[in-house]
Amino acid sequence: MVEAITVNARETDEMCPLRPGDQCRLCQLGATGPRDCPLVYLVMTDDELRAGVLESVARYELAGTSGTPISR
Ligand code: SF4
Repeated sequence: MVEAITVNARETDEMCPLRPGDQCRLCQLGATGPRDCPLVYLVMTDDELRAGVLESVARYELAGTSGTPISR
């Protein structure tokens, strides 16, 4: 017997806080957006990782909306 495969049609229009400029793609199992994303929780509760994300966001904002990242 073949079981039906259900397609997850979840959507969100929120932005991923870990990937500046990118929309949340619900890449983490069970996440319905950044607010309950386990990866966001892990990264943002770690001082070093959070600092890295904030640095990445700052570089993205300095680059403007061109999408061209500023390299170190
Ligand atoms: S599920 Fe989490 S890691 Fe994935 S895009 Fe959304 S916020 Fe980012």
